[in-house]
Amino acid sequence: MDVPPASNSRLLERLTPEQQNAVVHIDGPMLILAGPGSGKTRVVTHRVAHLLESGIPEWQIAALTFTNKAADEMRARVDSLAPGKQVWMGTFHRFCAQLLRRYAPMVGLQENYSIYDTSDSKQAMKRAIEAAGVSTSHASPDQISNLISKAKNKLITPEVWQTQIVSPQEKVASQVYPVYQKQLLVANAVDFDDLLLHVATMLRMNPELRSDLDARFRYIMVDEYQDTNLAQYAIVRGLSVDHPNLSVTGDPDQSIYGWRGADLNNILDFEKDYPNVKTVRLEQNYRSTPNILRAADQLIRHNRRRKQKDLFTENDEGPAVTLKFCSDGFEEADSIADDIVNLVASETAKPSDFAIFCRMNSLTRSVEHALRGRGVPYQIINGVEFYQRKEIKDILAYLHLVNNPSHDVALMRVINTPTRGIGAKTVERLQAFGDRHSIPLLEAARRVDEVDSIAKRSQTMVKRFVDLYDKIAAKATASLEEVIRYVVQESAYDKYLEKSAPDGEDVSPLANVDELVTAAADFDRRHPDDGSLDAFLEQVALVSDTDAFDDSDERVTLMTLHASKGLEFPRVYIIGVEDDLLPHKRSKDDDSQFEEERRLLFVGITRAEYSLQLSCCKRRMIRGEFRPVIPSPFLNELPLEEMQRIDSVQRGAWLDDVDQSTPSDWDMPAIQIDQDGINQDADTSFDFGANDHAKEDIAQFEDVDLDSPPPEPEKASDPVPQIGTLKTAADLMTFNRPPITAFQEGTRVRHSDYGVGVITAVSGRGPKRMARVEFNEGEHSFRLAFAPLELAD
Ligand code: ATP
Ligand code: MG
Repeated sequence: MDVPPASNSRLLERLTPEQQNAVVHIDGPMLILAGPGSGKTRVVTHRVAHLLESGIPEWQIAALTFTNKAADEMRARVDSLAPGKQVWMGTFHRFCAQLLRRYAPMVGLQENYSIYDTSDSKQAMKRAIEAAGVSTSHASPDQISNLISKAKNKLITPEVWQTQIVSPQEKVASQVYPVYQKQLLVANAVDFDDLLLHVATMLRMNPELRSDLDARFRYIMVDEYQDTNLAQYAIVRGLSVDHPNLSVTGDPDQSIYGWRGADLNNILDFEKDYPNVKTVRLEQNYRSTPNILRAADQLIRHNRRRKQKDLFTENDEGPAVTLKFCSDGFEEADSIADDIVNLVASETAKPSDFAIFCRMNSLTRSVEHALRGRGVPYQIINGVEFYQRKEIKDILAYLHLVNNPSHDVALMRVINTPTRGIGAKTVERLQAFGDRHSIPLLEAARRVDEVDSIAKRSQTMVKRFVDLYDKIAAKATASLEEVIRYVVQESAYDKYLEKSAPDGEDVSPLANVDELVTAAADFDRRHPDDGSLDAFLEQVALVSDTDAFDDSDERVTLMTLHASKGLEFPRVYIIGVEDDLLPHKRSKDDDSQFEEERRLLFVGITRAEYSLQLSCCKRRMIRGEFRPVIPSPFLNELPLEEMQRIDSVQRGAWLDDVDQSTPSDWDMPAIQIDQDGINQDADTSFDFGANDHAKEDIAQFEDVDLDSPPPEPEKASDPVPQIGTLKTAADLMTFNRPPITAFQEGTRVRHSDYGVGVITAVSGRGPKRMARVEFNEGEHSFRLAFAPLELAD
């Protein structure tokens, strides 16, 4: 074992000898193979600080993380350990985006290339499918996208693919692939997969560049290595040939991105790839109680393709893990919300201690409803959502087009937004003209005079649009904030929104546009020298869903199991641990997918520090109807004898089916129920809410509309929580919100902007309940569940 130098004593404090051993390692490959909560991420940050202390220049170090959030945390921690050092830290995609910015011409792009987000890629794919002239009867556009994405992640080029086709779907996809790639190049754009593919190709095709970059990034660290795909593997491998100081940390049991091309072999074979590797195993868990660890361990032992790791902890035993059976999703949600209210009220916990995980985003709806009804503040981790809003995408499309005039998807988005009389037929004809001449759409629009099939009147409209574009483009060197304001004003987007905004929404699209202006102003402030438009757009394109997660906020966190990777919370609830959901129906015919589902539950369980509850229901509401469901077979694999079982408060229905006398009778799958259950209509796949980006595009299954608000009458009165641990006035405001039912016709209310008013009408139920309020300055409608309204008296 290396002996830590004396000067590092502060850095090495609060590290175990094994962790220190990994931290002080400098040259040569290293594999840190360890279970959850054993300090892998902590070792990475400390090792960066140690390398700096050892005199390694900061620009020779790169730490690759799985999410931007993880990178930010790492940066903050490194900054506290080694202040002021600028080490490259970020996701693979960001790393590649920046390399590509520099070397774009090597792969046929220009430096100002654009990154297509998922919906942009979908648009581009649609166009490519049309241009390729293939029939989609064998493969849907989504299937084609997924297959192409998988091919890219495996570094398969269109030419190679042609020789390897096995299925009719692949045949179709392989015909679209070269057309799609060509159109991306003409548009000077890449999709998320291309970021990796282009960099991997660049390194392979240019030995000199590869060796320059190998020398530049001499010390590379990769956290969560078990989730890398072949393209990511090729990149880090390519950068550590001459200087094989590659250090990776991972846990094969936490590999949950197989569906996105992650290859578990990358970690399992690391020792073969680097024969002189130093392997470090960390066996002490610092995160969880023994109860939680035993549950995790027993579960994961059922996976066959794994090496057993023994984790121990010196933490206190803590409470037993609970398994809760509920009648339906609403009861499940209500009971969790009640729990939280009670624990916060008794000052045993604070809202940010709680996290609620689920397999699919749609499951959170009933929980949101329950939390909102009790005034409990919460955050849903889905950071990309803001940037997917129509108004935000519209404004960003103008910016994309200014930054990259070849960005056809952006042009199609804004050419008639706001409406300016340019119809779909005109756009199609411009497209055909552009395709014929291999020119971008904007160029085709400039040459609209030559497109005879477009009527004179429409030609004039197109010319006006080009003039507008030129005006905006001339402004491009101003600050980002000014550019955005200018776009909104010149395109009359604000007026367009005012006209089309739905009444009664408390977050208006215009307010979102204001938020974008604020984000831009913030970016200007933080990048006084290098705040270029493409840097801003790159940042926006690479936003990941966990970016929005704010752990300093006093709020309960709701997220998918995929998004929970790497995080930790004192109190965790995992809802919907049911057959066909977790494991998902689609995983059942494939052993490796089934094992990945088990790992997903394992990841969720191991996020918990102190308390953990798993729950499942007897029925769930799907598209307005209750459907029977059965518990997950994974529940049977847990140490049931030491867990606490809680049954539904509405016992009757549940107990008809379940004999609960002994633990072995918890043999869930034996319960007789209608197998047509949950996913009969939901035969597509789910919203992974995954980390990073590039996710929805590979969704294996569509989102299922689960637990949408109940159709039954609202409860007579929602309990007003008694909560005693509120710290700030702001907390008080959010916490003590009255129940929706307190707002009736004639009720006097106070609004933060409009002052005091009187409710003149109420309509709708549950979260859709609306109130019309008359204020001094006029009438406004609000959705009660969200509106900043208080009782005035
Ligand atoms: P995961 O596999 O879930 O990503 P991990 O192995 O990366 O987990 P960390 O997140 O680095 O684990 O550490 C888990 C928790 O344990 C963190 O709160 C960390 O601060 C704490 N921890 C790690 N090592 C020690 C130590 N030696 N002393 C005290 N606390 C520690
Ligand atoms: Mg970690």
